[in-house]
Amino acid sequence: MAETTGSRSRNLLKRLRDTLAQEGEGQERLDKITQLIADSMGTHVCSIYLLRDAETLELCATEGLNPESVHQTRLRIGEGLVGRVAREARPINVSNAPETPGFRYMPETGEEVYSSFLGVPIQRLGETRGVLVVQNKEARDYSDDEVYGLEVVAMVIAEMAELGAFVGKGAALSAPHQQPVTFRATSAQEGTAAGHVLLHEPHVVIANPVADDPEKELERLHRAMDRLKGDVDDMLSVAMGAATDESRQVLEAYRMFANSRGWLKRMEEDIRSGLAAEVAVEKEQSATRARMARVPDPYLRERLHDLDDLSNRLLRLLTGQDNHNGVEIPEDAILVARNIGPGELLEYGKRIKGVVLEEGSVGSHAAIVARAMAIPLVVHAEKITREALNGDLILVDGDHGIVHLRPEDSIAAAFQDKIAMQQEAQQQYASIRDLPAVTRDGVHIGLFMNAGLMVDLPSLKSSGADGVGLFRTELQFLIRSKVPRRGELAALYARIIDAAGDKPLIFRTLDIGSDKVLPYMKRTDEPNPAMGWRAIRLTLEKAGVMRMQIQALLRASNGRPLKVMFPFVAQFEEFTAARQAVLDEVVRERALGHKVPEEIEIGAMLETPSLAFAPDQFFEMADFISIGGNDLKQFFFAADRENERVRRRYDTLNVSFLTFIEQIARRCDSLGTPVSFCGEDAGRPVEALCFAAMGLRSLSMRPASIGPVKHLLRRVNLAEAREVIDRARASGAQSVRPALEGWLKDLGFV
Ligand code: PEP
Ligand code: MG
Repeated sequence: MAETTGSRSRNLLKRLRDTLAQEGEGQERLDKITQLIADSMGTHVCSIYLLRDAETLELCATEGLNPESVHQTRLRIGEGLVGRVAREARPINVSNAPETPGFRYMPETGEEVYSSFLGVPIQRLGETRGVLVVQNKEARDYSDDEVYGLEVVAMVIAEMAELGAFVGKGAALSAPHQQPVTFRATSAQEGTAAGHVLLHEPHVVIANPVADDPEKELERLHRAMDRLKGDVDDMLSVAMGAATDESRQVLEAYRMFANSRGWLKRMEEDIRSGLAAEVAVEKEQSATRARMARVPDPYLRERLHDLDDLSNRLLRLLTGQDNHNGVEIPEDAILVARNIGPGELLEYGKRIKGVVLEEGSVGSHAAIVARAMAIPLVVHAEKITREALNGDLILVDGDHGIVHLRPEDSIAAAFQDKIAMQQEAQQQYASIRDLPAVTRDGVHIGLFMNAGLMVDLPSLKSSGADGVGLFRTELQFLIRSKVPRRGELAALYARIIDAAGDKPLIFRTLDIGSDKVLPYMKRTDEPNPAMGWRAIRLTLEKAGVMRMQIQALLRASNGRPLKVMFPFVAQFEEFTAARQAVLDEVVRERALGHKVPEEIEIGAMLETPSLAFAPDQFFEMADFISIGGNDLKQFFFAADRENERVRRRYDTLNVSFLTFIEQIARRCDSLGTPVSFCGEDAGRPVEALCFAAMGLRSLSMRPASIGPVKHLLRRVNLAEAREVIDRARASGAQSVRPALEGWLKDLGFV
């Protein structure tokens, strides 16, 4: 019985595939396919609905319904039984459709005479492209074999659609991957870039979705499965030493799936029904993705995610399409990926001009790296990996989180204008690069740069920065699979000190925990990690790591002056303990005969409001203070810096925050403690001006921001800016922004 169903299915698939080879329009193919299916399954009706846009299905071909309704009948996703199949991405099989809840009668189709209904989603890699429906006049139940058979057919139709087999007139028959698409997503790193798509994981192209010889396809599947199991075993044995419990768990789950009889059996069955091995993998992958969307339990969803990853590996093994196999990296590459790790992103290095992620988050490691690489990053660009093809034109607006894929000419031209204007401005900045940031009334503001990678250091010269105000040391820990060795770190720090030359350079000790979880660190689930065991709280307890890093810094300096600061100090004692750890290491290193720095400055980052109110003795002990505005602002307003819903809710120029900054600057001044500001806001010209007006004389920012900030500072009179701010504060305004920007506009500066 199974044999007969299998061979019938194979025959039908081959006949469908033959329509691919025939000359003709997409519409003709679709008509032919509906005829073939109705004929083969003995149904009165067979209809194909395809998406004409993200929300609307259109009847594109029918055998049995009124031909006049083709391209006229449309349904929203979720509307009627057909819309429900699309929304739920699973079959609906009912013997009495008109009496089924949700049925929507469409008079133009003449479908009132049909009682039974079977609809299955047409989907590729979990993305619904349409719905395939068969109907009969009599009330009958379609058997499980029939449901399965129709799903297999739908799979081939999805692959044919992907190959462009149904291209014709109208939106529903438009060629795949050719329309312009705009993604309104989330900005994770500012900047703009225009270029061509480079997919981190290229699309798998399947030229022939139908198995001509099922035995051969089965053999291919088994071979690929064996390789997959071998790969997973290798990964596990490599991981046994270094991996955390968590990554081992993932690999164990991989192994379980790779050895799962159920998964293999389903794919074998798909092949026996006539699908090529790759399409069988995709079919099961689609089912996994549909399940993933329905499962509420996060643990189970994660496991389904693992299975999805494994399916991708299997597909690549089957098609021999490995990452970037044969794909040249274009000169102006914009990387498009579902997600990406910090190490992988770094490997692309300077070869990419921007990154667009389907998932990701503002505070992810990838975002930290993108920030360090100073390239725009947009996250949450839903479905972009399915829409984009290698080589597509793409425009990334990291300032607003907007991405234009295959843009219309008018949009591309406007975007190019914007980039040209920015380049023009860059030239202007270059002309003042070697001039100091002095306001018209003679106040000098030190402009420093933030860095975190060796590749950042050349920016020290090109940006005209006065030095490095913040070197984030955690990146070296984040991009490795195990704790870096002391010697390795010392060598790296030495190169950084060399590169800085005579310019001041401040190393910030390891700021991990919260979002920055090291791949090899045991993750402790914390209800609120941003306020949890992180930064100095963690390193004071894990004294070994702290000592190792301090030793590496001391050895790297090799007698030269050294500036170190500790992140996230919330009270005086944390600072005294960390400072003592440095002093103890100096004594030890000297005793070991190592050259210690001739001068050491030890500072603290002010990132929690509490530290602003620490005893005077703290300010006297700290050699310098650096305000970590990103964290300080999130705790001042109790607004998570990574939560899209609230992170922009409170303006940095809010009078409460500015007044707080002013108090910190005054307190530091009165106690003789040098103070600077190193959060992202320092790199925004209007914000930077405000901080200067509040009394700060040193700001640290992305290298790319130094030009624009200096350009503004050099043109304004700081005392006048201060008056504008004070007037706004006295007026009861919530933010000084409108007043200050109005003033700058009148001066012709904005
Ligand atoms: C800050 O919090 O402002 C800061 C500079 O540190 P990070 O962004 O690395 O937390
Ligand atoms: Mg911080």
